[in-house]
Amino acid sequence: MAYNEFRMDNQWLPFTPNRSFQKDPRIFVAADGMHFTTHDGKQVIDGISSLWCVGAGHNRKPINEAIKKQLDTLDYATAFSVSNDKAFRAAEMIAAMTPGNLNKVLFCNSGSEAADTSLKVALAYHRARGEGHRNLFIGRERGYHGVNFGGMSVGGIPANRKMYGSALLPRVDHLRFIHDPVNHAYIHNQEPVWNEDILLELENRLLPLHDASNVAAVIVEPIAGSAGWYIPPQGYLKRLREICDKHGILLIFDEVITGFGRLGTAFASDYYGVQPDMLNFAKAVTNGVIPMGGVVCTDRIYDAMMGAHGSAPDHAIEFFHGYTYSGHPVACAAAIATLDLFREEQLFERAGEMAPVLGDAMHSALKGLPNVISIRSLGLAAAVELSSMPGLPGKRAFDIFMDCYKHGVLVRNAGENLVFAPPYIVEKSHIDTMVNVLADAIQRHA
Ligand code: PMP
Repeated sequence: MAYNEFRMDNQWLPFTPNRSFQKDPRIFVAADGMHFTTHDGKQVIDGISSLWCVGAGHNRKPINEAIKKQLDTLDYATAFSVSNDKAFRAAEMIAAMTPGNLNKVLFCNSGSEAADTSLKVALAYHRARGEGHRNLFIGRERGYHGVNFGGMSVGGIPANRKMYGSALLPRVDHLRFIHDPVNHAYIHNQEPVWNEDILLELENRLLPLHDASNVAAVIVEPIAGSAGWYIPPQGYLKRLREICDKHGILLIFDEVITGFGRLGTAFASDYYGVQPDMLNFAKAVTNGVIPMGGVVCTDRIYDAMMGAHGSAPDHAIEFFHGYTYSGHPVACAAAIATLDLFREEQLFERAGEMAPVLGDAMHSALKGLPNVISIRSLGLAAAVELSSMPGLPGKRAFDIFMDCYKHGVLVRNAGENLVFAPPYIVEKSHIDTMVNVLADAIQRHA
């Protein structure tokens, strides 16, 4: 196929420099295992699990077969006031994997929808308990919770927010970013140790500012993924949990990236031993094959919402929220097959085993290369951060991303970072290729 078959006449590409795409199109036409095939017949290693989705690798037959079978059985059914068998089974499997009393799954179709759903649940929960004044949210600088208005408002990546100004949700504040560029530039599968100042920021700075009794929820990614894999200091998430408990504030973990195995455990909540009140998921739940997201809530939240309607008539809906495609049977069939596959092939354990292989390779090949100012690895993901080009933020990382692509490796550029998060089936030989290609590209762009 020739390049000019892919003109930019009709497609407006997401999170992509559209004006330059035509000059250098990057188009996939097939995928299998660790690799894509491009429109011009080249192989590219998927070094980022296609944005943290494809944990089990591409083109997995058990998932594909489950989807085909579902299409031939029940293609679609509305989710409002009726349901389908696969949605029940998928919810049961997800609830069995999430920690503690996180048992009630609200399905949606993406991480962005999960973020806004969780914020709405928080407001509705407090109102149901007679605390409707709790309507303020606390996110974190450089946090990412998708692109819808709620998630964007609690998110803290400046480029995503800057066009929207005061149209963002007004009742939001942000915790400080969690990276110390001086003392924690190099993190190798460990948690950085910080002073009490950052651990207690919520208690000492934000809650006095807003009055804790007005705060509905704190929402964070356990590890800041989209910003470039920034790892929280030791004890940080535990402290958030304690402070939220003390003040009746809900804690939401956005596990859209960290969920389903990335850290070698089912969830980051397991890895850190901290249970949130809501856990948002998407991406790897279906191996990325069919869009799906969701929010897992505690029994306490669900019971409070149901209890508030205890005397209402039978036809009264307890929570006016949902998407046409919530619990879509084909997505649920894909999720069931994916979760079965993760278990059968012990892929979370495998991610945990390969984590130090990736971390070792990144640290040993990239430390000391030109412009490298930080390398951070934890779980099966690692980032290298470069100093920015004066006046051209993000350019060096973008150029390196392009260079790697040309040399057959898909890496993710995020700000000044380049991030790898390969499928859990990755072999050491893939990691060596990925990291060597990246090292060469960093040197070429010195
Ligand atoms: N939350 C987090 C933590 C994410 O990483 C992402 C996507 N990268 C989202 C939410 C948004 O997910 P989606 O793109 O599926 O809307």
